[in-house]
Amino acid sequence: MSATDPRAAGAATRPLISVLKLKKHFPVRGGVFGRTQAVVQAVDGVSFDVKPGETLGIVGESGCGKSTTAKLLIGLTERDDGDILFDGHALGAQLTLKDLRKNVQMVFQDSYASLNPRLTIEDSVAFGARVQGLDNPEDRARALMERVGLDPDRFAHRYPHELSGGQRQRVNIARALAMSPRLVVLDEAVSALDKSVEAQVLNLLSDLRKEFGLTYIFISHDLNVVRYISDRILVMYLGEVVEVAPVDSIWTEQAHPYTRSLFSAMPSMDPDNRTKEPPLAGDPPNPINPPPGCRFHTRCRFAADVCKLRVPKLAGIARNSDHLAACHLHDAESGHPGAGKGIPA
Ligand code: SF4
Repeated sequence: MSATDPRAAGAATRPLISVLKLKKHFPVRGGVFGRTQAVVQAVDGVSFDVKPGETLGIVGESGCGKSTTAKLLIGLTERDDGDILFDGHALGAQLTLKDLRKNVQMVFQDSYASLNPRLTIEDSVAFGARVQGLDNPEDRARALMERVGLDPDRFAHRYPHELSGGQRQRVNIARALAMSPRLVVLDEAVSALDKSVEAQVLNLLSDLRKEFGLTYIFISHDLNVVRYISDRILVMYLGEVVEVAPVDSIWTEQAHPYTRSLFSAMPSMDPDNRTKEPPLAGDPPNPINPPPGCRFHTRCRFAADVCKLRVPKLAGIARNSDHLAACHLHDAESGHPGAGKGIPA
């Protein structure tokens, strides 16, 4: 049994992937000598776990660091600091990047750019399995094409430009599955699709998760889509995690003021369900120079002096220890005037 085999002792109880204080800062170079002028803090101390078979949805505004986090998870971007443990094995210690990539695959938003335009669909799906030396890559590719809803007799010898966006994304899903991964990271994978096609692909992803025993990390800016597919939702703001909770819990009550603003900005067709929450003011601060203390304090209507000085800890809120939020309003010892009371209604 290999080090990364799911049958290893304790596999059922430990997270499939754990991320601990993950950090990625991008230098901004300039001047005649191309020296580092500043640093963009894209991901700054992010930690989370994903259990086997679970879907974790990651949401947040553009530039919050969700896509950088995804790329760090599969080693497309090199981390500056922090640990990634896959099935209890630390990347860089007991686990090589090659081992990790056998177990983790990614599906991107741009279905066309993700495929080699010179390869037929069958070759695209079979490519990874062929490189890995897996048995019968062509048969495997055709079976997976069938499974994702593409008739191999019709599509095997076509090229990416001959397919619609939805069909190409099905090819990308089949290509990811051809490597027999245990974790699939879906980065805005349905965002570019028409609504009817998006629903079909979401249903396909749900079915595949059960059939192949997959675990998903699903990144999207669309809260309704994330709610449909996820078991838990993690909210990022300016490179940090501000809230993480089971989907029903966060849908009932958002514990962080930023999450509440995100949810209240969702359009509703129900006239009795229109938000009374004022819209979030201004743009996110510059990640080159994020605000001290709570990074959200420049836009938070509940901000107090302590928020500018102390970084709030991500901790369980009073009503539910599975529901974590990083806000002084939930910490009775924080010194905030509303400490321990949660967000006012
Ligand atoms: Fe707002 Fe302060 Fe809570 Fe940050 S810690 S979200 S500024 S109340």
